[in-house]
Amino acid sequence: MSNFNGLMQQANLIGGQWVGADDGDTTEINNPATGAVVGTVPNAGHDETERAIAAASQAFKSWSKTSLAERVGLLHKLHDALMDNQEDLAQLLTAEQGKPLFEARGEIAIGAAYVRWFAEEIRRTKGEIIPAPSNDKRLLVTHHPVGVVGMITPWNFPSSMLARKIAPALAAGCTVVAKPAPQTPYSGLAWGKLCQDVGFPDGVVNIVTGDAPAIGGAIMSNKEVRKVTFTGSTNVGKLLIRQSADQVKKVSMELGGNAPFIVFDDADLDAAVEGAMIAKFRNMGQTCVCTNRFYVQAGIHDAFVAKLKDAIAAMKIGDGTEDGVVQGPLIDENAVKKVEGMIADAKAKGGEVVLGGGRHALGQTFFEPTLITGATSEMQFTTDEIFGPLAAIYKFEDEDAAVAAANATDYGLAAYAYTKDLARAFRMNEGLEYGMVGINSGLITTVEAPFGGVKESGMGKEGGSQGLEDYQITKYTCVAGL
Ligand code: ADP
Repeated sequence: MSNFNGLMQQANLIGGQWVGADDGDTTEINNPATGAVVGTVPNAGHDETERAIAAASQAFKSWSKTSLAERVGLLHKLHDALMDNQEDLAQLLTAEQGKPLFEARGEIAIGAAYVRWFAEEIRRTKGEIIPAPSNDKRLLVTHHPVGVVGMITPWNFPSSMLARKIAPALAAGCTVVAKPAPQTPYSGLAWGKLCQDVGFPDGVVNIVTGDAPAIGGAIMSNKEVRKVTFTGSTNVGKLLIRQSADQVKKVSMELGGNAPFIVFDDADLDAAVEGAMIAKFRNMGQTCVCTNRFYVQAGIHDAFVAKLKDAIAAMKIGDGTEDGVVQGPLIDENAVKKVEGMIADAKAKGGEVVLGGGRHALGQTFFEPTLITGATSEMQFTTDEIFGPLAAIYKFEDEDAAVAAANATDYGLAAYAYTKDLARAFRMNEGLEYGMVGINSGLITTVEAPFGGVKESGMGKEGGSQGLEDYQITKYTCVAGL
């Protein structure tokens, strides 16, 4: 069995030591494309997490005082280590998660780019001197690391979701206790290995795998953890927000989405279809910014559907390690059942399956990319996140109705609109109640920009300069008697 150039760690990293669960319990990790066992990881819980927090807390005392030059230097080494190991990290990611290798390589690269971005950004976190109301005072505003940060991440981007949290935390001078998703622990553990290899001190980065409620409970109830950053489902996010209340912990929440993708009559058809394919089928539809609802204006509807259908039919499906594959398996059986249920619901309510519609002949959790027309607001995917390769098309007549339908959701993460009308583009910017809007673009995530949602899609930002502020406290100091 490959150990991916030593990057596949089957142990937890606590205080600089690679350790198993206290009771030796382990969990098997399977490759979703083949069902084969990739390896095992510790099934740790409360006590191991407490020790990880203690290690992070101890390490914070010195790490938070390291020089800016030292932190920046280590982050640049980490960036280089990620890129030097890009191929092995991508292979490991595909083995545990299923996404096509080219996407996995891209995920490692963007993770490295976040590390470099925050290494640069921390050098520009300037404070302020505010004019005081009297001459004998000086008013200063300074930024400081928030403390030990708990991180809980999902399986859909097992590497880059940690990158957006670990990189700003380390840059700011925080220490880390991270819990990767149970389906995809190895990409998370690999961050621990690389941080250790490039020289981050023991205890600065700790990674614990195992029982989610037990690990999460320890993180939420320990006073040493000053901030919790979570990416995952809205339900678990709400639970963590409730748990954070007792100690008024600072939280960042990157939760579910229900992205609308609006195609107006005046759109560039080819560009809209290209953007639709990326925004819908990247990672087999399993991203929180994936299109959930396509709203297509009547005049362009039939042409858009025909072109989208051809593009979907041309996709190669298979094991992500095979050449040319652009669609791998879904993460697990539950994901397949959810999509099946939504298709049955849509058919029962008058939707037409134009393409796909069921499990793929490849077996396992492979699913046929599916196109449904005649979608209506009564259908389940109008309100619920699909998280699978199903494109649902709603036909609309006028702009106001499309915007109203797009906003009629509890979520507010990403929205997309295709139009050549400049005034309309700005009406979309102002009218769409979302944290991120793509105008004539289906792929908007980039390290320079603040990623995050509004409404029940969460709070806090990842990336941009805002993504660093989330790991800092702002302190005001009044110097008087001058
Ligand atoms: P998904 O449904 O996409 O798996 P989840 O929100 O369940 O999304 O999972 C995201 C992350 O939250 C994973 O790391 C998971 O283990 C973790 N998680 C799930 N339940 C809890 C919990 N009760 N406390 C803390 N973390 C949890």
